[in-house]
Amino acid sequence: MLQSGTCPKCNEVKLILIPGSTVSGDGDFIRIGATMLNHVPITRYVCADCGYSEEYVVDKDHRIRLMEQYDLIKQKSDSKS
Ligand SMILES: [Zn+2]
Repeated sequence: MLQSGTCPKCNEVKLILIPGSTVSGDGDFIRIGATMLNHVPITRYVCADCGYSEEYVVDKDHRIRLMEQYDLIKQKSDSKS
C-alpha cells in the first residue's frame, strides 16, 4: 500500500494518509520509553473505498530502535534442515 499507492484488497487509488505522532492524542505511536522522545510514530494508510488500513513505521531510525527494544520473529525455515 505504501509502495504501490493502491489498495491491495480492491485496487482503489484514493488512500487516506493519517500521519503518526509522538504526542498522545495527536496520532498513533509505539511507546519504547517513558518520554515522548521514546515514542515511535505509526503512519496509517486507509483505503477510501473499502476501508482497509495498513500501518507503517516509516523512519528507518525508528525501526532500528524497535529492533533494539523487541525480538525479531524467528523464520520458519530455521526449524527445517
Ligand atoms: Zn480498498
